[in-house]
Amino acid sequence: MESNGVTPRPNSNSNRPEALTGTEVTIASTNHITSNGAPHGRLVPTTTKTCIPLVFHEPHVETGFRQTDQPWTYYLFSLFQIHNECMNVWTHLVAFFVILYRCWSFSFEFDFIHDPYMWPLGAEFLTTFLLYAFSSGAHCFSNKSELVHYTCFIVDYCGIGLYGLGSSIAHYWYCMHEDIFGTFPHRFAAPGGVLLSSLVCFCCSVSKTFYKRPYPFTRRLWQIGSVMAIYAWLIFPILYQLYLFLFHNYWEPSLADHFSQMFWFFLGGFFFGSDIPQRFFPGCFDFVGHSHQIFHVCIMMTSYTQLDAVYKDIQKGRQELYATEAPTFWGTYGAVLIGLCINFCIGVVFYNLSKRKIADEKQQ
Ligand SMILES: [Zn+2]
Repeated sequence: MESNGVTPRPNSNSNRPEALTGTEVTIASTNHITSNGAPHGRLVPTTTKTCIPLVFHEPHVETGFRQTDQPWTYYLFSLFQIHNECMNVWTHLVAFFVILYRCWSFSFEFDFIHDPYMWPLGAEFLTTFLLYAFSSGAHCFSNKSELVHYTCFIVDYCGIGLYGLGSSIAHYWYCMHEDIFGTFPHRFAAPGGVLLSSLVCFCCSVSKTFYKRPYPFTRRLWQIGSVMAIYAWLIFPILYQLYLFLFHNYWEPSLADHFSQMFWFFLGGFFFGSDIPQRFFPGCFDFVGHSHQIFHVCIMMTSYTQLDAVYKDIQKGRQELYATEAPTFWGTYGAVLIGLCINFCIGVVFYNLSKRKIADEKQQ
């Protein structure tokens, strides 16, 4: 039996496979038995690493895996079960509602629909929602089957790319110093963001589809390289603010919040890439404290502090902003729509590649 913090039910069913040990949470009560040996209406117990296919393994995680090939509702209800993806789902669900609350509170001051000058901020909110919705969904349903697993994370990468796009649009409209307003980077903010957003989706999907566990380090390069490319693009206006501070002693009030955003982003990257702390204590952080959970919290803090910074920049530069040419639909919401369509097409391609990969592996 796994010790998950929930009292396990007595194993009264002799048909139940040996592997099915662990946590059960009752969602209804009947006495029928499913093919997995769990009573209908009850969540199937979690299992150990040795009892699930290789694709679902996580480095240094030993227990708390959900069973595959269960109904969709099982994975939905597993939100209320203790398993090794539970915190990954909840961290970004909480982040989704935190950002929703911020959007609601901003909406009293800014009009995201009728005021084109607030469309860049609206685009940032929209992509942040997509990021958290796609991420929570991916972690929630990823254990259903191998194909669903690949598809879920391709969708997750699409969300990461789009969040980079939304951040680029907001930074280039609100955080850009007037010196470079109207220059090439400013004009190219949205198309550059779309391009790099698709690059993130493509490269991360390659890293998921073309590599097998245990993953080599080159796989990380596909992920880190593409994410750093879009981050370099979106952070350029902030770096220019930093340059003005260092060489011209010009301090923007928002700079402290931008630094905070950068700190959380790089801290998240550190936990994402390092597998700390579980690499030192395999099996001890299967449920709480795993590096991917810490990474999720860091990303939540990144988006939260980013909104603080953007808000201060809007407040300070409002007059200058409204004196410029207004943002266009295709440079804001439209760019997000185009990014979504391109990433959807990339997703379809990798969905088919994953399907073929799974079929090939079954034939071998
Ligand atoms: Zn994640």
